[in-house]
Amino acid sequence: MGRLRRSRAHHARRDVHRAARTRVRARDIDQIQFEDLDPKRRAELEAQPLDHELPGLGQHYCVECAKYYETDEALKSHWRSKVHKRRVKQLKEKPYTIEEAEMAAGLGREQRKPRVTSMEDIT
Ligand SMILES: [Zn+2]
Repeated sequence: MGRLRRSRAHHARRDVHRAARTRVRARDIDQIQFEDLDPKRRAELEAQPLDHELPGLGQHYCVECAKYYETDEALKSHWRSKVHKRRVKQLKEKPYTIEEAEMAAGLGREQRKPRVTSMEDIT
């Protein structure tokens, strides 16, 4: 019998899997860009009242990643982590607009008239 299991079957897919999880759905990147990074909102998020439902009573929150941490130490080590740095970089980029998405899909500004099949066309 040969090998039953491929080696390295899950490499580098951690973030993809994490992003697809709905159980701990984090805020979307555009929500953070448009709402949370606003200085007023950011200050609010960083100084939240004690909440016993949240990890670390809601006292150690990373605005960029929309995540709570148990301790200050955990939050600080998160700030040094690859996940956080990547996220910050992503947030600095221009938000992806609907127009861009449509251009990419070839649905630019040109008006595409719906095809009308009338009786005149047939005769
Ligand atoms: Zn973070």
